[in-house]
Amino acid sequence: MNVIDLDQIDTDAPLFDPAAFRLGDEEAELNALARRIGKAKFAPRAATYDREAIFPTENYRDMHEVGLLGIAVPKEHGGSGAGFRSYATTAAEIGRYCGATALTWNMHVCSCLWSGPLSDDLEMTEEQRANHLRRRATHYTRIIDDGAIYAQPFSEGGAAAAGVIPFSTSAKRVDGGWLINGKKIFASLSGSADYYGVLCGEMKPGERPSRRDTMYIAVPGNAEGVEVVGDWDPLGMRGTVSRTLLLKDVFVDDDAALMPRGVYYQAASRWPHMFMTLSPTYLGLAQAAFDFTVKYLRGEIPNTGPEKRRKFPTKQHAIADMFVMLQQTKALWFQAVSEARADPSKEQVLRAYAAQYTVMENANELAQLAIRTCGGQSMLKTLPLERIYRDSRCGSLMLPWTAEICLDRIGREALYEPGETDD
Ligand SMILES: Cc1cc2nc3c(=O)[nH]c(=O)nc-3n(C[C@H](O)[C@H](O)[C@H](O)COP(=O)(O)OP(=O)(O)OC[C@H]3O[C@@H](n4cnc5c(N)ncnc54)[C@H](O)[C@@H]3O)c2cc1C
Repeated sequence: MNVIDLDQIDTDAPLFDPAAFRLGDEEAELNALARRIGKAKFAPRAATYDREAIFPTENYRDMHEVGLLGIAVPKEHGGSGAGFRSYATTAAEIGRYCGATALTWNMHVCSCLWSGPLSDDLEMTEEQRANHLRRRATHYTRIIDDGAIYAQPFSEGGAAAAGVIPFSTSAKRVDGGWLINGKKIFASLSGSADYYGVLCGEMKPGERPSRRDTMYIAVPGNAEGVEVVGDWDPLGMRGTVSRTLLLKDVFVDDDAALMPRGVYYQAASRWPHMFMTLSPTYLGLAQAAFDFTVKYLRGEIPNTGPEKRRKFPTKQHAIADMFVMLQQTKALWFQAVSEARADPSKEQVLRAYAAQYTVMENANELAQLAIRTCGGQSMLKTLPLERIYRDSRCGSLMLPWTAEICLDRIGREALYEPGETDD
């Protein structure tokens, strides 16, 4: 397959019409590429990955071939140089065709976004900056030349992934590098990633662990002491293969750091939209649920009965409700991802929480409305809707910005300024 073959694909209408949403040419082209490869390659394979709960390896090979693995790699390093929103809108397009591919691609792309455009906005010493630029060049070469893929395990089953306490996975300074020990749960791409971008706390002799000392380190999947354990048989997002990762005395050299000391903490405080990158997948699923329903009611889904169901007023009302919910979701999300930057205003941060909450909750709401509206046949496993329904259920529980945590923060931060108490 090559880009020329993909050019022949008759794509679906864009999630964000380039003229209406004033997308730049490069962003619109990346979105179009995602639609072409999604429709031609990812959609036909999605049911198999889901049924067998296996990683979408073939999709990753295709993404490497067309350049999407390097979407957020700077142009001078051979990538597309996409910023936050270009990545997000492109990921949403992929989510329409295979949720597990879009979600795992998010983990991979974060390794480039966080070490790239985000880090460029943050403070570092001159020495840190020089080392960082040299190290990330190595990491970009692996992606562009070798098709390396990166996972992003930070969940540990405690409060660390919610950003409340330090990570218990530890990185200890040793001669020439780091010794890493710990356990990560739900490590998407487990067993398939070439590198795991592990979030861990630096252990300093005689000091208590602090979130300020969080390190972000690329651990090779084949390093001694790395082990993937446990089975994987979940409700949805089955192709993400998010098993448990054990790290036992894993040595990595200094150049494995994806961000210099202290910069992840700075990013989490000053670049909060970095935690919105899981939402595009679910926006894509929301669009897919709506599109399926329209096709179904128009009688365009093969083998689902002779009747065009669109003539019933109940169906017209249902699709109108779905359209309104989808438009509200897209508009809020597009505004929020357009505002992603260092040091956003309070209102922009609250809007980001609201957008994340809205996408994650509405994706599943739209999928359930789609099943209710289409009816019993739409639940059959020969059709994609029941997979969209199961995949979309996972969105609101993704840490650190789960639906509950978003509401909790909106409530608190809307009513209290930093440092304010009622005492
Ligand atoms: C398909 C899938 C793929 C995933 N992939 C990855 C991955 O690649 N990398 C990764 O790191 N993680 C990944 N995760 C994990 C995910 O981000 C969460 O960490 C995980 O779902 C948490 O599960 P838990 O039962 O341990 O949640 P718990 O920590 O027990 O939390 C349960 C709920 O309680 C609420 N809660 C938790 N902490 C707080 C708090 N401090 N304040 C208020 N409310 C709180 C939240 O709403 C949360 O949903 C994945 C999860 C799924 C389902």
